[in-house]
Amino acid sequence: MPSIAVIGAGGLGGPIALGLATFASKLVLCDPDKVELSNLHRQVQFAESDVGKYKVRCLARRLRGRNHKLTVEQFAEPLIAETASDILGNCDLVVDGTDSFDAKFLVNDWCVERNIPFVISSIAGSTGHIVVRQRDEQSCYRCLFERPPKHQVTCAGVGVLGPSCGIVAAHVVQLVNQIVNHQSPASLWSFPNIFEANSPRKLTPNHRPHCKACWTQRKQGTKMATIRIPTPLRKLTGGNETVNASGATVEEVLSNLETNYPGLKARICDDTGAVKRFVNIYIKDEDIRHLENLATKVAEGDEISIVPAIAGGN
Ligand SMILES: [Zn+2]
Repeated sequence: MPSIAVIGAGGLGGPIALGLATFASKLVLCDPDKVELSNLHRQVQFAESDVGKYKVRCLARRLRGRNHKLTVEQFAEPLIAETASDILGNCDLVVDGTDSFDAKFLVNDWCVERNIPFVISSIAGSTGHIVVRQRDEQSCYRCLFERPPKHQVTCAGVGVLGPSCGIVAAHVVQLVNQIVNHQSPASLWSFPNIFEANSPRKLTPNHRPHCKACWTQRKQGTKMATIRIPTPLRKLTGGNETVNASGATVEEVLSNLETNYPGLKARICDDTGAVKRFVNIYIKDEDIRHLENLATKVAEGDEISIVPAIAGGN
């Protein structure tokens, strides 16, 4: 049972924590604010009697009411660099539901450095997005947004449609559940309009060259390649058309790919570890069978395409 930090106890953090309380062993709550009457339309975890009290205290009481076995730790203070170790130190996973870019970048940098998975969620008006980073993943929040914007958007500034918090929060809870159960959800979810029938959309983030947060980790590892996944196998990569994986050789890349996308390698290689007869692998448009097969060297930025041959062919 995981121990999860939930940063922010407001419109997103509250319903996220209520959902996580059913399967986490411990939740660590962090929010410096007190409940205000104007919060109640989007912060369903609070009641009028909570107004004027610290959000983490009121939320902790609700969570214990949902799961008496749950351990809840509370920090009625902001997440800052000086307090990050105390707040995040013993967690298996970190969830951000704040409207603070400083908190989101801190969660990203802290988790990337320690290779701890996180889910960062945001809402403005009726739009939102969720960024997921699992262990050993090759991109991060800073790959998407390099640094906090000069003019930060807050809930108070742009407003939040109350019900949209519950919808995004439900997605966050489901994504955390998948990570905890060793599944591989997509890394980026965009809600152009939370109330649209086809929202959210799954997107594939690219790793930013020389990303301040994750570049060092990537550099310490071996070379990073982009792997093009054929349509029949995309159900194993969360629908992603391309994914990233590191490795000095094609074989290492496939093994590392398997860590994040279980079941994928078995569709490409047979029991002996050799590439299946009806699968072709190309690196920079050259068939690896004409190179050094699985021992073919991989360079930073190489594109590897996995192409199943037409049945009976090859
Ligand atoms: Zn990055």
